[in-house]
Amino acid sequence: MPAASSETQEATQYDVIIVGAGSGNSILTPDFDDKKVALVEKGAFGGTCLNVGCIPTKMYVLAAEKAFAAREAGKLGIDLEYKGADWPAIVQRVFDNRIDLIAKGGEDYRRNGCDNVTVYDMEASFVGPKTLKTGRGEDEELITAETIILAAGARPYIPDWAHGVTFHTNEDIMRLERQPKSLTIVGGGFIAMEFAHVFDALGTDVTVISRSQLLRKLDSDIAEPFNALAAERYTTHIGRTVASAEETDTGITLTLDDGSAITSEALLIATGRVPNSDTLNVHAGGIDTHPDGRVAVDEYGRTSADGVWSLGDLSSPYQLKHVANAEQRAVTHNVLSTWSGSEDSSLVPLPRPRSFGDFHAPPDRYRGHDGTGSHRCRVRCHGQGPKLRRRGLRLGPGGLNRFGEARRRPIFRQAPRRALHGPAGVHAHPANDHCDGLRARPPDLPPRSILDPPVPRRSDGKRDPRSRPDVQRSLNLCFTPLSGAAS
Ligand SMILES: Cc1cc2nc3c(=O)[nH]c(=O)nc-3n(C[C@H](O)[C@H](O)[C@H](O)COP(=O)(O)OP(=O)(O)OC[C@H]3O[C@@H](n4cnc5c(N)ncnc54)[C@H](O)[C@@H]3O)c2cc1C
Repeated sequence: MPAASSETQEATQYDVIIVGAGSGNSILTPDFDDKKVALVEKGAFGGTCLNVGCIPTKMYVLAAEKAFAAREAGKLGIDLEYKGADWPAIVQRVFDNRIDLIAKGGEDYRRNGCDNVTVYDMEASFVGPKTLKTGRGEDEELITAETIILAAGARPYIPDWAHGVTFHTNEDIMRLERQPKSLTIVGGGFIAMEFAHVFDALGTDVTVISRSQLLRKLDSDIAEPFNALAAERYTTHIGRTVASAEETDTGITLTLDDGSAITSEALLIATGRVPNSDTLNVHAGGIDTHPDGRVAVDEYGRTSADGVWSLGDLSSPYQLKHVANAEQRAVTHNVLSTWSGSEDSSLVPLPRPRSFGDFHAPPDRYRGHDGTGSHRCRVRCHGQGPKLRRRGLRLGPGGLNRFGEARRRPIFRQAPRRALHGPAGVHAHPANDHCDGLRARPPDLPPRSILDPPVPRRSDGKRDPRSRPDVQRSLNLCFTPLSGAAS
């Protein structure tokens, strides 16, 4: 039984401790069945991607696209009327009927279906090398293990000016009781822009404040037309910062550095993400961090503390789910290899992606115009004709990112056929072709460029859709970690 205070308590010994049940929940392959495992998760199982990130946002995007398509249908000569969104019904579909069931099912499985796993639900923090303070319910407990895997992710950064007013982040904006009539979004990255698209499409009056160009990390080939289109859809204040914020009966008023004031019913902050190394108190565990707060790891995922590993948003410079998944696979392999006494040469390096982002837009944009003739989109295209029209765009080199290595060969990405809006609908997407290239690769296999994923062929030479690794990966992303949780 845990003692009343952890200070006087002996630490409970485990073989392995995992902190974070996002990507961390997928570590527990059958290889761990004979190990005594502590799994610490202070929030919902499934982590950011499942609960407040990739997956629910894409479900909102789906609803938003229907609304947007109806509103824009006149451009195609179709007379449709958008009468508004039943916001509570959207929330219910996404969370009550889907996400929450999956998260709960995943937690139930770990708590009740895995004899070797003990679930802790109190926030974990290091109190010394290889020792963490955590707990179950109200009861604090110290736990220790020779192997600790940190997968504690990141959280939204909240600027100082926002303290004292009501604000939302990705963690709660999708669960609002009602759709706001007006929304100010502070931030200009993927998360900000995805929500701008969703709320604007559903009929909210959206204002965007960004201190720099929107989607500034993308190539100007994409960022420039995106900014032009965003300025048409939203009220934008680019190159501006917030000086102060005030809450009144009418909503939240932000005063900008140029003295202008913006009032909206609701405020969304999407100004970056902070790795959770501080709340985890990693320095007490002898774990070094980068200046930006990320846990420092070597190429195999080892931290500066012997036996302590880290993966995902907590340590990765690339905060994307497929990167976190790929790192989880690599670290899992490396931990098991280390346990079996293998040499370092048997470890696999953390995969490093070469391409990010997904570009959702109608195929005709990719052919150089937006269907209305008013904008040109200078994304490079590969392939023309029926294939391109059927599948949407394949983006080319230099069109996606600023990572030099991507330019050696084209990166092909596909835009879904159903995308009907313009680059203003850009959002990061977790499941795509290059995910396969990120898979941890056993060292006895020859190195393969992630730019060159295999294309499985049937005997007749055609691609076998069932064996396409990217399809498999998409399914893995959404459901494998919590499989069996919900239909
Ligand atoms: C709005 C949004 C949209 C996104 N869309 C995409 C997308 O389309 N495509 C894509 O690839 N990526 C997307 N991402 C990024 C993606 O969600 C993350 O990269 C990914 O979820 C990181 O996984 P992780 O396992 O490292 O961390 P997480 O999934 O965040 O898991 C960390 C877990 O650790 C728990 N935890 C943290 N600290 C402690 C502690 N001290 N004690 C106990 N538990 C703790 C947390 O509660 C959390 O459950 C999006 C992110 C956001 C915010």
